[in-house]
Amino acid sequence: MKKKRIVVLGATGSVGQTVLREIAAHREFFEVVGIACQRNVTRAQELLLEFNISALAITDETIHITSDRKIYRGSAGLMAMVTELDFDALVVAISGIDGLKPTLRAIDRSKDIILASKEILVEAGDLVMQRARERGVQILPLDSEHNAIFQCTRGETGEIQKLQLTASGGRFWNLPVSAMEAATPEIVLNHPKWSMGAKITVDSSTMANKGLEIIEAMHLFQVQAEQIEVLVHPECVVHSLVEFVDGNILAQLSPTSMAYAARACLFFPERGIASQSEKLDLAFLGSLHFYAPDLKKFPCLRLAYEVARRKQSLHIAYNAANEVAVELFLAHKISFLSIPQILDAVLEKIDDRTFATLEEILAVDQMVRSQACQVARRFAF
Ligand code: MG
Repeated sequence: MKKKRIVVLGATGSVGQTVLREIAAHREFFEVVGIACQRNVTRAQELLLEFNISALAITDETIHITSDRKIYRGSAGLMAMVTELDFDALVVAISGIDGLKPTLRAIDRSKDIILASKEILVEAGDLVMQRARERGVQILPLDSEHNAIFQCTRGETGEIQKLQLTASGGRFWNLPVSAMEAATPEIVLNHPKWSMGAKITVDSSTMANKGLEIIEAMHLFQVQAEQIEVLVHPECVVHSLVEFVDGNILAQLSPTSMAYAARACLFFPERGIASQSEKLDLAFLGSLHFYAPDLKKFPCLRLAYEVARRKQSLHIAYNAANEVAVELFLAHKISFLSIPQILDAVLEKIDDRTFATLEEILAVDQMVRSQACQVARRFAF
């Protein structure tokens, strides 16, 4: 049998490592032909040996290494790698918008996309999905909620009435607001349920992550903002639910690990093979809980609901301003509660617009980032 050839962008990050562990557990089915990292070259070089990979892109241009493998450098190098290598599917697990250009390049080359970077669909969902349809490319969502919906809607011809995205609620969902006032990056990065990268862990705590996922779901499943609900589900076992027009609801369940979504994406359109990994024991769990989110306590989620009903310029601004604010919080320059305040102040300045080209999208993204930096000065310690 021919092995599926995989390229992993963000190979040294949390999601990238999960995907690679799944590949390592199923080496007879998959072959890694290229990886990209930002600056963790020590881990990247270990991966080159472990998976016998012939190409590595390092996006941080200041880093030089010597290697007997093909090394690409900078964002131009990353594009060259995605253009030159022969592969079947591209795993995009770079946090933020940096994966957008290589994703579009891979789509143009008719390669399937295993997408973890939700920011790409939030900012450029129409462009990406339209080009994927034109090229007959499958966008496979690796985000656990969207992967759940993808699994529930596979082969389904019925109309979707509503999507219910589940959320862990993050670190603060059952703590008083005073706990958020006192939150430091060190406290926030200690997530109770999911082990993830720093940016997404902060987003989970503000629930901006769920906000981004609402917009991501609109693009992936062609639904309106009004059709999406968020449900806080602290056990993180039901990864999302789909209600069809006839009132029937399907849900996807698995243990709290990205491995199950990664497996579903890697093996698609097959179901994969018998797995030795942890099985869900519902009798042991006994009960599952669901709560409506508190939009007063989580203004980032309230803002996302508003933004989702408006045009692309607001979606770009939501993502870009949030990224800037999170970076400043992680650098101890603003407080945790300043994140939604900066977001709110930036969004107020943005008019409703849509954009046809990648260049326009990236220009607005840049403009919003500098606005967010300016606004953030008012909130600096
Ligand atoms: Mg998610």
